[in-house]
Amino acid sequence: MSVEHFVGHSASIKDNRDIAGHRSQKPSTPELSRYESPVHGFVLHPEIKDSLDKHQREILDTLESAARRIADLYVLQESEWVRFYPRGVQKSEVSREAQEKPELLSPYTIVERHPEGEFFATHMHEVFAPQIKEKGITRRLRRAADEAGKGKNRDSGLQAYLRAKAHALETYSKSATQRIKAAEKIWLEREDEPVIDVVIGLYDTYTDKFRIKYSWQAWVGVLDEQLTQDSQWFMDAFLSWWGQEIGKQVPKVKMRVDHTVIMAGQAGRYEWVGNSLPCQSKWREEMGSKFTIFEPQFEDKFRHRKLPVFREYIDPDKIAGITDSWIRITDLRKYIAHEIGHSLIPGENHKQRLGKDTSWLKELYCELLALYGYRESFKKIPNASLRESEAAMAMTLAQGYLDYEDRDKKEDYHTSSTILVDLLIEKDAVWIENGVFTWHETPIIFDAIGDSLSEIQDVLIDGRAKDAKDLKDRHFKPDIYKHLLSKQSYPVTFPKN
Ligand SMILES: [Zn+2]
Repeated sequence: MSVEHFVGHSASIKDNRDIAGHRSQKPSTPELSRYESPVHGFVLHPEIKDSLDKHQREILDTLESAARRIADLYVLQESEWVRFYPRGVQKSEVSREAQEKPELLSPYTIVERHPEGEFFATHMHEVFAPQIKEKGITRRLRRAADEAGKGKNRDSGLQAYLRAKAHALETYSKSATQRIKAAEKIWLEREDEPVIDVVIGLYDTYTDKFRIKYSWQAWVGVLDEQLTQDSQWFMDAFLSWWGQEIGKQVPKVKMRVDHTVIMAGQAGRYEWVGNSLPCQSKWREEMGSKFTIFEPQFEDKFRHRKLPVFREYIDPDKIAGITDSWIRITDLRKYIAHEIGHSLIPGENHKQRLGKDTSWLKELYCELLALYGYRESFKKIPNASLRESEAAMAMTLAQGYLDYEDRDKKEDYHTSSTILVDLLIEKDAVWIENGVFTWHETPIIFDAIGDSLSEIQDVLIDGRAKDAKDLKDRHFKPDIYKHLLSKQSYPVTFPKN
């Protein structure tokens, strides 16, 4: 399950040839070269590279080359050389027949049709078996596994995981999904975080228009131990606050902040800052989940986009003495809290009740919960600075401007952040003064955040489409950002001291 993805899915699928029996045909190279290879590589800091021994470097290189080959498999999915479903089929048709044949809805199968018209499912490991073999993907995983058993930094957990992965990728009988699960179990249930980590295989439904089927993706990286520990500590504090507040069982979530060296396939196509796995909610309940943050992606967005708008659109008097590295850690923590919020959203059947307004409502809820929970969980920690949550709140305001810039690509984020700002302005908690956001009392803002959170929560629990629409009609005022740009004040009569 991916988090904060970039919507600019750049490969347009134009190839509509009938490719019945396509698997007997080899895709031609010129045909596939039209699709830009979805690989995103990052340079590892020299000091991190130096900290690895020769076996670890060998593992890293081998896994990186396996990941590049996974990107080739993904290109076959994107180019529709392998379709998830027969052309022109409706989701409802597949769902109907899946009552008899549940394997049609498995995220790991493709659906084809017999000449008589009946659907049948084939495991993707079988469909792609020739490519997996030809490209030496499992051979590379085994080579990395052998290497993981050598030297003083040997990692038997990584070795077991890589072998289980290779075994799963070569299995395409009925037990393939069980083998995948067995590998995931090794990955999720180890106590510590491995120095080198890899995710490789079929995950996430972004590429499938019905959002059912997984696609090929991989990433490889080296652990950032310090930031991982810090993030795990923050997430535990946040979740424990949430558990006490709601009186519910806290989900088991592991954190990893990763010096990523490669993101390939579907993960290379979307510019994710983080990703949470496994995707199956049953597996998450059973084995817990792991949330990976891709540090180079986070860093890039922070340095080049977030920090500049923070410095430009927040009242300098309110953030006097706050350093860039301090803003970075608060932004990272808020991001973690927001993303974990997605698995804590209250209520059910949102889509049926709230329709097209579901998505921005969820974003709004997660952002409010992140800010409120950040502050409340820190109140329980002796000597913790409440100024962190103030800085995080200021970043939310500034980020609203970025979402406004990206409004055509990320409509839901724009709707959510614009409404959030208006909710705070309406409660006289913040305002714009000569082109910057400012405020008097931080506790007043967090009271307003708490009130807004309850309001949105009610809609998510038992609201109707009309409630969501009313909320949007009342609070969606994108013109507020023009006051930032023209250095004006808004509302014109802001509260005076
Ligand atoms: Zn979100």
